[in-house]
Amino acid sequence: MRALILGGTADASLLAAEIARAGLDAVYSYGGRTRAPADQPLPTRIGGFGGVSGLAGYLRCQGITHVIDATHPFAAEMSRHAVEACAQTCTPLIALERAPWTRASGDKWTEVADVTAAVAALPEAPANVFLAIGRQHIAPFATKPQHSYTLRFVDPPEAPLPFTADVIVSRGPFTLDCELDMLRKRGTAWIVARNSGGDGARAKIDAARTLGLPVIMISRPALPERRRVESVTAVMQWLGHSTRLGA
Ligand code: NAP
Repeated sequence: MRALILGGTADASLLAAEIARAGLDAVYSYGGRTRAPADQPLPTRIGGFGGVSGLAGYLRCQGITHVIDATHPFAAEMSRHAVEACAQTCTPLIALERAPWTRASGDKWTEVADVTAAVAALPEAPANVFLAIGRQHIAPFATKPQHSYTLRFVDPPEAPLPFTADVIVSRGPFTLDCELDMLRKRGTAWIVARNSGGDGARAKIDAARTLGLPVIMISRPALPERRRVESVTAVMQWLGHSTRLGA
């Protein structure tokens, strides 16, 4: 058995730790988006495979017997490639994907399908807007330059931004107090977020509810049908191993 973890998330790190503890043969793969990705207790590779054919070739040449797609729910291209490459090579695939957040009492969400719809959902009148989305998705907001945007990235931006914005460089997870403080200090009136799910990124959503702020919530991209679980334990069972984490 030799597993490939498509990673880049906190869940992928938990899984890597458990797989290493169980002494299984596995490779951890990063997409290469962050400058200093967290060390993993497994052999690690960084960077794209070169599309579906590149991934299929990698699976064959590395003798991969199981693929675990533990990428972020919005990393749709990688997930689609994994489905196709695994189908081509008859490699079993499972997705480790946390459940999306659901609306709680007091939430003022406008749910939209994508970033373009999120831009359209913002008001015309100038407002302070916290864009809690990845840097590769911010460009469409340049069409509403009247707003004062706050962005938060793990690394400082390398290229000029498509519009003027206040940039916070910080790596989560963030606490509720920290998010309340940040939103209050900036006089935030609107939040744009993606429905990532999980606890690590949730504090901003809880903070928005506490402050009565509207959230434009971008729904997850549609993905092809695949086996999907929500816990490390379930992945370990799929691999035929028990877990000590109880995660
Ligand atoms: P994406 O748009 O779905 O993927 C674009 C391309 O990047 C893929 O086709 C693949 O290139 C390469 N790639 C992505 N993830 C990879 C991985 N784990 N290992 C090797 N290659 C990978 O992905 P994304 O949204 O840019 O996210 C990139 C990475 O950041 C993912 O690993 C994801 O888990 C992590 N991440 C993303 C977000 C987010 O908001 N999207 C948030 C937190 C973490 P090839 O076609 O050349 O193989």
